[in-house]
Formats: sequence, structure tokens, C-alpha cells
Amino acid sequence: MFDLDRLASQLPPRPLTRFAPSPTGHLHLGHVVNAVYVWSLARTLGGRVLLRIEDHDGTRCRPEFEQSIREDLDWLGLEPDIIAERQSESGAVYAAALARLGETHGTYACDCSRRTIAREATDVFGEETRYPGRCRARGLTPGPGTGTRVVMEPGAERFEDGMLGPQQQEPAMQCGDLLVRDRLGHWTYQFAVTVDDQRQGIDLVIRGEDLLASTGRQIRLARMLGRETPPVFFHHPLLWKQTGEKLSKASGDTGIRELRAAGMTAKAVLREAAARGALPPALATSL
Ligand code: GLU
Repeated sequence: MFDLDRLASQLPPRPLTRFAPSPTGHLHLGHVVNAVYVWSLARTLGGRVLLRIEDHDGTRCRPEFEQSIREDLDWLGLEPDIIAERQSESGAVYAAALARLGETHGTYACDCSRRTIAREATDVFGEETRYPGRCRARGLTPGPGTGTRVVMEPGAERFEDGMLGPQQQEPAMQCGDLLVRDRLGHWTYQFAVTVDDQRQGIDLVIRGEDLLASTGRQIRLARMLGRETPPVFFHHPLLWKQTGEKLSKASGDTGIRELRAAGMTAKAVLREAAARGALPPALATSL
């Protein structure tokens, strides 16, 4: 399905893509699969890479992991062209975006816990529980103990994925009204990433196919925030362990540090990630 010329024709010259790790652990081979797609596509397309540290979830992210991720990228020879503001420093930008959204679209306060949602939800879409809209008409006063949701009108989002081809998703069916900020005041992944991709002028989003289901809602949210032409999306295969279990950062296994300590060279790590992530041969030559 991968067609480099077709992908290039959908992008501006020198497209900007991004590598956006969450600093919740050390870099592992799964991240390097993503990194080899990001850097090889950027190099092949004559584009640039922005590094964005996605530490919007202050409870799980740690500065020492950011440091270690940056050292490992450096060792791998994967140098970003631009280093963006961290998400933890972008609160004022997100607040301004939410204020704009509230003026142009429906937003409302919500005090539902996960347990309430699980109890009241009547529809489960794939692995997702659709928010049943419990607080939409309750008129709660925004403030401590409430989160914020934005109304997702019905309708499909269509896009052509650079790897997976034509896609169609219906955010109102999948997730219902989207949570923008949670009850503890944390910005959600969906909101932070959409605002950042917009303000940083990201043309091409390259990420693992576990995030495919998020794309329709991010395109919808981007349009609601005033972005008419969404980024081009490219979802690549994930790295799977022998057992079929998805690699997790928390497990720490196959950490780049361990591979390095075991004597593997940076080139060999990149080659291993390219092979295990099925990087198309046309891209592998740029590594
Ligand atoms: N920060 C996310 C992660 O580490 C990536 C988000 C994205 O690429 O949209 O899984």
C-alpha cells in the first residue's frame, strides 16, 4: 500500500513531521520503530523533524526520562531539526484554544468518573466506551472537580492514510463528546496533540497503528479549532514481542540502553527496528 510519490503529492515541499515521545520510561525498540519511520520519511521527502516531549500527564512523566530519551536519540544519530515547547509548559496555549472552542462550539463541564461512564454507557465501540452524554444537559458550573467535554456532532471523517489507504471514522459513535480536560485539570492527549500539531504546523503525523482510531476525532477537533487542511496521517505497524504482547515502556524490556550495553551498535539497532517494523525498503536506504 505504501506509495512514496503519492504521499509526496499530498504534502508541501519540505514537510514538517514530528517525533512525540511521552517521557514515562526509557526509549525501547518500539519507539525506535516509530523513529525510523519518522526520520527516514523526513529524509526521503526532504522534510524536517520536530521533537515534542508529550508530558501533558504530569503524574506519569519524569524529567529524567526526557533526558534519557534525548541521549538515546543522540546516540542513534537521530537529530531533530526543531525542538518544540514541552506540553507541560503549554498550559496557557491549551487554555486559550479551549476558550476559542467554547465560543465557537459546544463545550460543557462534566463530573463523570470512569466508573460512572462504564455504568451508564450503553454502547461499546471496539475497545472504546462511548461517553453517553450524561452531563451534556446538566448545566454544571465549570470549576474544581469538573472536566470539560466538547460536543461531537454526528458525521464521518474520511482521510487517506499514507500506509493504510482510505479510512472512515465516526467520532460521535466511537468516543462521543470528547474530553478535553479531565476532572483533575490535566489536558487530555487528544486535545494537547491536536492543538500542538496545529500551532507547530505539522504537515505529516507518523505514528503506530495503535493510534489509528484517534485520527478521525483529531481531524474533527482540528477543524473545530480552525484548521481547514488537517495533517496527512501515516500509521505504521507496531513492534510485537514473540508472544504477541505489545511492548510497553513500563516493562523496560528491549530498552535501547540495554542493547547498547550489550554491545549493539547504533546502526544495528536502527536496522533491527527497521526490520521488526517492516520499514519499506525504499525508506531503509536513508538510515
Ligand atoms: N506521545 C504519544 C506516545 O508516546 C504519541 C502521540 C502521537 O504520535 O500522536 O505514544
